[in-house]
Amino acid sequence: MKSQDIRQKFLDFFESKKHSIVPSAPMVVKNDPTLMFVNSGMAPFKEYFLGNAQPKNNRIADTQKCLRVSGKHNDLEEVGYDTYHHTLFEMLGNWSFGDYFKKEAIAWAWELLTEVYGVNKDILYVTVFEGNDEDGIPMDQEAYNFWKEIIPEDRILMGNKKDNFWEMGEQGPCGPCSEIHVDIRTDEEKAKVEGKSLVNMDHPQVVEIWNLVFMQYNRKANGSLENLPAKHIDTGMGFERLCMVLQDVKSNYDTDVFTPIIREIETITDKNYGKNNEVDIAIRVISDHVRAVAFSIADGQLPSNTGAGYVIRRILRRAVRYGFTFLNKKEPFIYRLVDVLSKKMGKAFPELKSQKQLIENVIKEEEASFLRTLDQGLVLLNGIVEQTKGDTVSGEKAFELYDTYGFPIDLTALILSEKGLKLDEEGFNAELQKQKNRSRAASEMSTDDWTILVDDAEQEFIGYDALEANVKITRYRKVTSKKDGDMYQLVFNLTPFYAEGGGQVGDKGYLKDTHGDVVYILDTKKENNVIIHFAKNLPDHLTETFKAVVDAKQRQRTEANHTATHLLHQALREVLGDHVEQKGSAVHSKYLRFDFSHFSKLTTEQLRDVENFVNARIDGKLPLEENRNVPMEQAIANGAMALFGEKYGDTVRTIRFGQSMELCGGTHVKNTADIWHFKIRSESAIASGIRRIEAITSDAVKDFYFDTNRAYFEIRDLLNNAKDPVKAVADLKDENNELKKQIETLLKDKAKNIKGDLKNEMTEINGIQFLAKQLDLDASGMKDLCFELGSEYNNLFLLFAAENDGKALLSCYISKELVAEKNLNAGQVVRELGKYIQGGGGGQPFFATAGGKNPDGIKEALEKSENYIE
Ligand code: ATP
Ligand code: MG
Repeated sequence: MKSQDIRQKFLDFFESKKHSIVPSAPMVVKNDPTLMFVNSGMAPFKEYFLGNAQPKNNRIADTQKCLRVSGKHNDLEEVGYDTYHHTLFEMLGNWSFGDYFKKEAIAWAWELLTEVYGVNKDILYVTVFEGNDEDGIPMDQEAYNFWKEIIPEDRILMGNKKDNFWEMGEQGPCGPCSEIHVDIRTDEEKAKVEGKSLVNMDHPQVVEIWNLVFMQYNRKANGSLENLPAKHIDTGMGFERLCMVLQDVKSNYDTDVFTPIIREIETITDKNYGKNNEVDIAIRVISDHVRAVAFSIADGQLPSNTGAGYVIRRILRRAVRYGFTFLNKKEPFIYRLVDVLSKKMGKAFPELKSQKQLIENVIKEEEASFLRTLDQGLVLLNGIVEQTKGDTVSGEKAFELYDTYGFPIDLTALILSEKGLKLDEEGFNAELQKQKNRSRAASEMSTDDWTILVDDAEQEFIGYDALEANVKITRYRKVTSKKDGDMYQLVFNLTPFYAEGGGQVGDKGYLKDTHGDVVYILDTKKENNVIIHFAKNLPDHLTETFKAVVDAKQRQRTEANHTATHLLHQALREVLGDHVEQKGSAVHSKYLRFDFSHFSKLTTEQLRDVENFVNARIDGKLPLEENRNVPMEQAIANGAMALFGEKYGDTVRTIRFGQSMELCGGTHVKNTADIWHFKIRSESAIASGIRRIEAITSDAVKDFYFDTNRAYFEIRDLLNNAKDPVKAVADLKDENNELKKQIETLLKDKAKNIKGDLKNEMTEINGIQFLAKQLDLDASGMKDLCFELGSEYNNLFLLFAAENDGKALLSCYISKELVAEKNLNAGQVVRELGKYIQGGGGGQPFFATAGGKNPDGIKEALEKSENYIE
């Protein structure tokens, strides 16, 4: 069965069981402080499990792009070495939000595997949670009983807390799980060792394919468990592993998900897969990593130096490194795999197709730049090796190479071993640990449990319509971190505060109680769909009604910038073309920033056209047309621009100004006239194929014009109130150039004269042309003169001195021939004569300089110089 059909059959099956089939959410998570990448199928549905939102259908199924390279799930180091862990993989999942539970989840999983896919029952094992006394959680007897109905009891294995108890995080929903494992070894091998004993033992052909999680508890901050009011099902099946089973192969990399990419790598590198272990590892690494990187870029996450972007950069660099070391590829080639990947997966993930060109460009650029780093690193490493005494290279030095220059440590170790040297790994690890401790200490944070003031409170956001409201605090908690100290997070029953999201900053403002006490709201953010207000302290009268007031000025300015961002997006597509896609934005009160795909620098005319386009729409006084409850599909059909970062939801909000229409949750001006004016401040490249525009609107433009205007008058003042300051400055520049030219000629003439005079003053002593003299020149003038005279003689000894700004300078020149014959050294000369001018210096044997603070010593230094040639 082809992988495409396998995926489709899964979705069809659960559709027949009344599930809504939804598209994969973006893999890169925006606006969730607790997660960088979706690492399991349930992540996009967290808010449903936490009860913060209600799904339209309480049964959902999908295939979700997952990435396991950081945080709780990190499989990166396994990838390439084993045959069944990937960085990016698809997780097929079915969910019940308070609807069906263990019985159906188990029965359906079994039906799908054995009846729809036709998996042989004899290769399947299942696990059940054995219970844990410490935690006081009983064995999952319920699941055991359901399994017993369909599978022989000796194929049901007991699993411990590590394997069979799932938790969302340190706090929150959790519960026992049942895993389904396959044994795809040959009959011969099976006869030797029983499959049962290999489950959960990291055997490459006895692997877990599906995990059924039964969420029935909630873990509190103090570690205790309570029963969840509504119980949920969360299942995840590894798509690539399922393909391995159904395509009857022994490795995920032998399925049609990977073979086309591997064939392409073979062609490009002229290596064969399956002949040599190291080459095979490298090919697996690269075929895996190119998928992770391509999907991330398609999701809008470019490689960068921080956060999620840095994780992506590291994945790509790992691939480059394996290609460099084991496939001998010293030039970019991974980008060339994007073509086959997008052909193969583009149907299920259209973003790979539409963004192909960008993905290729970005990967190529990253590859090239990392290959340069590797080159430099090799040079630095050679330097380190040369300085190394004994056979062990210092861990500290290796760490510096790794930390400062991004040179991979395993490559360092490999190169050293090829040179017969050892790496002080302990020393390296100690440095690494120190660095980790430093960054952990900086990010350490503790979060208290919520204190609930109003039970079962719903939260309403009214900030599109109001900037003030009477509110009640429904819950609060304290969060302590090194960075911010103690902070309080407050949740209200209703709020006019906009939470940071869609690039727009969170609102600031204050709460005021009836006694007149005020608590400032410093920021507003969203976590799992709950709007959280940040304050430095708690109000005294927590249970009272407060007046919540948003800082209106900041909000207005932010809104002007947000609407301008939409108009800018439209303008760029109009002026540059439809290939322009938004790649990120930041909407602040003071400015806006917009990142987009485009391949060359914008010309002055294009920038002016873009500005004019936006300003024409501001002048056009276009009213805001807002629609808060549009089904997503309908909005897209109506031509709304869907941005990355959006995931499946029941309804979306559309924002229209004239012909600009976008899906957007942010706040906007009521009419484009409120923006007053739009001005681009800068345009630059932030990555290959990605440009950034920074712009300002409204008050900031007024400030900008005010400042430039003031500067203009100051300049005019300096120009004696010239009528035409532009012309006056141009004249000044011309005049200045003319004067520079004159000075140059004069200096040249002077030098010529000096040279002639000096030649006459030289004396010949012991076959050496000698001159010691004070000159009226600066250091570089003396140097030029030394070298010019030097080119005319091969037996020259010069000592020049000068006084500059109260300091003394010495320059000594000795012909190379003399250096060799008479064992003279200019460096030594200036060092020794330097003491007369109370200074020091050095240089090369044929030319050296010294500086000192005692010009009175010049005379003596000059006199003493003759000693060297006598
Ligand atoms: P394993 O122990 O094999 O790493 P897991 O316990 O981490 O698996 P879950 O978190 O339960 O796996 O994820 C559900 C399913 O997703 C697994 O049964 C497996 O089929 C698949 N899966 C998990 N991690 C990976 C990965 N890195 N690459 C490919 N598939 C994976
Ligand atoms: Mg795992």
